[in-house]
Amino acid sequence: MSKITASPPHIALLPSAGMGHLTPFLRLASMLSSRSCTVTLITASPSVSAAESSHISFFLSQHPQVKHIEFQVLPSKPTTDDPFFLQFEATNRSVHLLYPSLASASPPLSAIFSDFAVAPSIAPVAADLGIPNYIISTTSCKFFCLLAYLPVLLSDPLSFSSSLSEVSIPGITPLPLPSIPPPFKNPNHLFTSLTAANAQALSKAKGILMNIFDDFEPETLAAINSGRVLDNLPPILPIGPLETFEPKKELDQSYLPWLDSQPAESVVYVSFGSRTAMSSAQITELSKGLERSGYRFLWVLKTSKVDKDDKEELKDLLEESFFDRTKNKGRIVKGWVSQQDILEHRAIGGFLNHCGWNSVMEAARKGIPMLAWPQHGDQSVNAEVVEKAGLGIWERKWGWGLEGLVSGEEIGKKIVELMEDEKLRGLARKVGENAGKAIGIGGKSEKVLTEVLEYLEQKK
Ligand code: UDP
Ligand code: UDP
Ligand code: UDP
Repeated sequence: MSKITASPPHIALLPSAGMGHLTPFLRLASMLSSRSCTVTLITASPSVSAAESSHISFFLSQHPQVKHIEFQVLPSKPTTDDPFFLQFEATNRSVHLLYPSLASASPPLSAIFSDFAVAPSIAPVAADLGIPNYIISTTSCKFFCLLAYLPVLLSDPLSFSSSLSEVSIPGITPLPLPSIPPPFKNPNHLFTSLTAANAQALSKAKGILMNIFDDFEPETLAAINSGRVLDNLPPILPIGPLETFEPKKELDQSYLPWLDSQPAESVVYVSFGSRTAMSSAQITELSKGLERSGYRFLWVLKTSKVDKDDKEELKDLLEESFFDRTKNKGRIVKGWVSQQDILEHRAIGGFLNHCGWNSVMEAARKGIPMLAWPQHGDQSVNAEVVEKAGLGIWERKWGWGLEGLVSGEEIGKKIVELMEDEKLRGLARKVGENAGKAIGIGGKSEKVLTEVLEYLEQKK
């Protein structure tokens, strides 16, 4: 077919709830826009966290060419479930309401890029519009294999039996039972039922865009793309690490003058993402661990799952004497920081983190060695991926976040190991170089994205 009047495609992007989901979509929206695509960003209202609404507003103010559709989600029944999961569920129930505005888009839409969490509801909308749907996966390729294979596992009551030490998925190395998110062992858990429904809709998508790069998870990627995991999946398209777009305004930058004056690679950056609430006992032990390690630290501390609920002040969380003793050694921040800027700072030498996938890809881009401490969800599987790729170390016996209490002594020892492991530092640097190659001109991830856009351009 000859390319007659090829013009850049018009792509609608539909993220799901939580910063871990919104962030990759805003980054991709920015990348598509700078490649001359017409971009429509669809966001569900009201959003769960304050961080989401402020990032959306700031993104739109910086990208006036991006069109915006804000749609009201149908209300959920109030329950005790995770508010982010309730929003996934409510968004799925509401997505059909978008049909009229998508059908009348001008220029007409070429494709919808949507979150895995809304896969079942967006598939029929895309089919009615006669356009392809690409799913954006916001987790590791390995965890994605588990998500995709979950319906098969749930059909056998023995899949997650405690008599087994690992869970087998065809084509990939088995997953140790302790790294399976505990909710998956309960088919009635909202997280589990939603995920299983999403997995069943995967085959309807044209492709799965992943914020990963080939060299980071080569074996898993090859296995899933050769049909060894499941034979009905669309191609997995690695396009990461996504280029960053970050607001520089309204950020907590109180730590910056201090960070600027620290020696190169001397500071441990500590953060558990946007929605992990650590217990107060664990916060105390972590403070002891940081102090015992003797290393300088920058600690971003969050105490609630949803930022709007975070009312506690630092002085109520940690003893005044701790601040006195560590005032030259570290800084603790409670607001929203630009993690990307921090990871790019020359003073940062290590990253203690929960292995939320965005954080992993951000660390990979910069080749910063990680100490993985998974808290929930996909993070234990991600931690294993990080370790295997040479980007970090992981103490398996620490378990899940709220499972037990890890002592300050253990944390301190592990931080010393992180900061003093020169072999790890070299391997992590290599990961950073490979990440840079993947997204550079002619790199594997850059090529994959170019091919998707060329396909959509020719299809128009
Ligand atoms: N983040 C940030 N500043 C903060 C907290 C988080 O910039 O104060 C960013 C972080 O860089 C990442 C995202 O928010 O891009 C969090 O996603 P991730 O997948 O790492 O973890 P989650 O928050 O979903 O657990
Ligand atoms: N997830 C999903 N469907 C759901 C809930 C979660 O596919 O209904 C996926 C989600 O894409 C994420 C992973 O499972 O990559 C872990 O979810 P969680 O919400 O714990 O992580 P976060 O949103 O904090 O990154
Ligand atoms: N979760 C979270 N932040 C937390 C604790 C839990 O986002 O601080 C999420 C996590 O992704 C998990 C889900 O909430 O998959 C359910 O949490 P939990 O493992 O405690 O199971 P439940 O108590 O709901 O059975």
